[in-house]
Amino acid sequence: MFSGIQPTADSFHLGNYLGALRSWVRMQDTHDSLYCVVDLHAITAGHEPKVLRQRTRVAAAQLLAIGIDPERSTLFVQSHVPAHAELAWVLGCITGFGEASRMTQFKDKAARQGTDRASVGLFTYPVLMAADILLYRAAEVPVGEDQRQHLELSRDLAQRFNRDFGKTFVVPEAYIPADTAKITDLQDPTSKMSKSSSSPNGIVELLDEPSRSAKRIRSAVTDTGREIVYDPEHKPGISNLLSIYSALSGETVAELERRYEGHGYGDLKKDLGQVVADFTTPIRERTQGYLDDPAELDKILAVGAEKARVLADATLRQVYDRVGFLPAA
Ligand code: ATP
Ligand code: MG
Repeated sequence: MFSGIQPTADSFHLGNYLGALRSWVRMQDTHDSLYCVVDLHAITAGHEPKVLRQRTRVAAAQLLAIGIDPERSTLFVQSHVPAHAELAWVLGCITGFGEASRMTQFKDKAARQGTDRASVGLFTYPVLMAADILLYRAAEVPVGEDQRQHLELSRDLAQRFNRDFGKTFVVPEAYIPADTAKITDLQDPTSKMSKSSSSPNGIVELLDEPSRSAKRIRSAVTDTGREIVYDPEHKPGISNLLSIYSALSGETVAELERRYEGHGYGDLKKDLGQVVADFTTPIRERTQGYLDDPAELDKILAVGAEKARVLADATLRQVYDRVGFLPAA
């Protein structure tokens, strides 16, 4: 399996963790896994070079801190493996312009930036993502709900290439968790929690001070009414808090509903602040530990890149041959 995450913020958030990263950790036990900090994707919407470099290290450190084990899995940085960009070009040439234009993430992000300012890189982002996955012939891709459409495109491109040039790629399946596929913004519980588009008060960061996370949870937008029940349609705010609470504590939503019967929203929010603090504190400490030894961190990433390059280059060579490029030597 393969999956990636963008270094587009100083910290990952609970949506990243519950939608995707938690599956990454678990699937190491059952799958041959590759995990990638996708820095090429992170330059599609404007960035600061120094900040990107720091965020890439912090991203890798967080992945190690949550339990990605570089002995069992391949952890690497996308730009260290040139085949990602190279395969993306080939796949871009079998992607329809109209097909790419239908991607809702591009439409949303481009609308926020203004169509004239949105980059071609943002437009072809899903093609690069297809290259990421197909290079490693990944069968499963653990992602949040927001990536479902991009995964569909990856599948279509794999099938199209296989049909036109001979069987080369594995057609990947999205692995999307049932209960936490879309954690929503605390301030806007109908939008997903997002590194780059949520307001600071809308996100709970893995690396934030517990007191600040608790404050953000306390000021989360909740719904009219007083009852603590899971009802995403009518009570999206409370339902989101219950999903987070349940996922982090291991208690079912039904158990939580029973426990908070007769209690107000304030009680739930206060307790959730503590649950989040208990969960994030060791992650924050371990992340700092990895950041304190950047040489060791870079070594782990170098080993990962070396392992990834071997796999990626073999696929790319086959692709170049199948499309009819002249061998280089
Ligand atoms: P950006 O705003 O820069 O796109 P992001 O928060 O969407 O950042 P990504 O790096 O794009 O994070 O995505 C990493 C993984 O986290 C993906 O698998 C994505 O589906 C998942 N994910 C992101 N946000 C959520 C969310 N709110 N709920 C569940 N999963 C999420
Ligand atoms: Mg995203």
